[in-house]
Amino acid sequence: MTSALASADRVAVVTGASSGIGAATARVLAAQGFHVVVGARRLDRLTALADEIGGTALSLDVTEDASVAAFTDAVPRCDILINNAGGAKGLAPVADADLEHWRWMWETNVLGTLRVTKALLPKLIASGDGLIVTVTSIAALETYDNGAGYTSAKHAQAALHRTLRPELLGKPVRLTEICPGMVETEFSLVRFDGDQDRSDAVYSGLTPMIADDIAEVIGFVASRPPHVNIDLIEIKPRDQASARRNIKTG
Ligand code: NAP
Repeated sequence: MTSALASADRVAVVTGASSGIGAATARVLAAQGFHVVVGARRLDRLTALADEIGGTALSLDVTEDASVAAFTDAVPRCDILINNAGGAKGLAPVADADLEHWRWMWETNVLGTLRVTKALLPKLIASGDGLIVTVTSIAALETYDNGAGYTSAKHAQAALHRTLRPELLGKPVRLTEICPGMVETEFSLVRFDGDQDRSDAVYSGLTPMIADDIAEVIGFVASRPPHVNIDLIEIKPRDQASARRNIKTG
């Protein structure tokens, strides 16, 4: 453990911080004075980010028990946990469901959030003013054709997060769910297995949000006083009315 991490007054942990919403959120929290521990599988990117923001980069695969244990053991205290690691694989009707894609989505979004949250909960409580922010999606609020693998995983991740709210009543931990609509990140590139043209097509013809738009909102949540719990925020681009309807679909 670095001495900066060991002596930090306020520590924020961001999972999936090697790109997109996680990386942007780490920058915002660092600017608010948190020592930010950034976790993901691509350590080279994390290390560059940690150097930039004066934080700590730690390798993390949320689908592996041992990786989560090593990661969370290395965190001496935790004031804020941002459950952000996640994503989608594929877009197919239930009739053609790819079991491996479903497993990836459930392991990463649902069980990944469970593993990290469970391990850090004692430290969040011990902080005296803990905050858990889980980045679910509008896919946690709606279903859409060909999206059941992702929407079911995001609904399950949301159920886990929302169950903690009453379970933790009386404990000094706040819980906020962030439900974004379309954000241009590496999300679609991952969903379509590196197909850049297919990913670009998702965001062409409309103006999506960018990662900073979500990070700024998370920064607002993190800067509320301890007695204020923002339960859920749904954020969409002006060009998107729901998971099923945007200015391209009509
Ligand atoms: P992104 O750019 O693809 O970032 C996803 C992050 O998750 C990466 O840092 C990735 O890092 C990490 N990750 C994936 N699998 C992991 C694993 N097994 N262990 C640890 N980290 C892992 O996409 P994003 O849009 O920023 O996504 C962030 C969150 O927002 C996700 O939960 C996503 O479902 C949600 N979301 C996105 C949108 C959107 O339109 N973009 C909308 C609603 C919700 P490594 O690959 O380096 O591990």
